[in-house]
Amino acid sequence: MRKLTSWLLILSSALLLASFVSPVGGQLVITSSFGEFRGTGNRGPHFHMGSDFSTQMRSGVPILAAADGWLVRIEIDEDDIYGNVVVLQHENGFRTLYAHLSGFAEQIKDVVNSVVSEFGKRRIVVEFPERSIWFKAGEAIGYSGQTGEAAQPHCHFEIRNSDETICYNPSDMLSVPKPADARFTVRGLIIDGERFDYVENRVYRFRGPWPKIAVDAVTSVGRNVIGLRSLKLYFDKDLVYHIDLGEIRLDEFNNVWAVYTENSVADGYRYSAYYKLYPDRVSSVVKFNKFPELGQLPSRTNVSIVCEDVWGNEYELKFVLERR
Ligand SMILES: [Zn+2]
Repeated sequence: MRKLTSWLLILSSALLLASFVSPVGGQLVITSSFGEFRGTGNRGPHFHMGSDFSTQMRSGVPILAAADGWLVRIEIDEDDIYGNVVVLQHENGFRTLYAHLSGFAEQIKDVVNSVVSEFGKRRIVVEFPERSIWFKAGEAIGYSGQTGEAAQPHCHFEIRNSDETICYNPSDMLSVPKPADARFTVRGLIIDGERFDYVENRVYRFRGPWPKIAVDAVTSVGRNVIGLRSLKLYFDKDLVYHIDLGEIRLDEFNNVWAVYTENSVADGYRYSAYYKLYPDRVSSVVKFNKFPELGQLPSRTNVSIVCEDVWGNEYELKFVLERR
């Protein structure tokens, strides 16, 4: 039994090490991360299921296949969250999805033109026969745009399993450089519904058996902000809660209130999202939850919140809780 477990572990880590090449040419610049809160769109508040990469706010920039693969489907849609989409299947078992495209690659254009002239301007999904149309890694699958829910042209890139039930954090499988001006930033702390500025080693007060803590922390890059990869909450050095945004099941697309507080805002121009460090709704991104067996905290507790950015750097917030 033990052997089987280690074999499975080796297999799964081998899958996660599968690597992809950049879906845009030149220097890869991340503008949004996997698992961020999104408040708008015709499917309601949801998780950001991919990473966004800059196309210098330009439409028409070639979007490139992240590995050799065959075309699974295209979605022609101006209005849905994703806009125009291409999905590829790769030999490593993963699928990649490219969204908000302004146009499709040369070898798909005839199909697109013929279905659009037949069905007109409505959502059209075209599934292709297995292994019929191939793209080489680095070959253009389409062109950047802002179809669907995109405030400006960019590349929205997703990595999914082959039955498209799970999305993975692209930062784990793609080499994404960390911008020189990237800075870990704490923008606020909420304790039992009350907002505070975070000050290291400050004493914050709470009532009841334990407080509901939420933190708005991001990586700031210039005026842009990028969501975190994981957060761990410790009470007196004891791990009590762990959120990990390494993968999100597609059936949890709308389950954002498990991770973010209800006052979170993300509409393409503003981003404010407090990570909930207490159990509220069941979610597979909550990897550890000791609250049910926690009982009452002592009257004074040292709190540590370890935040990990998408590059694997860790930052520790430290403060003290005292019961009122
Ligand atoms: Zn996106």
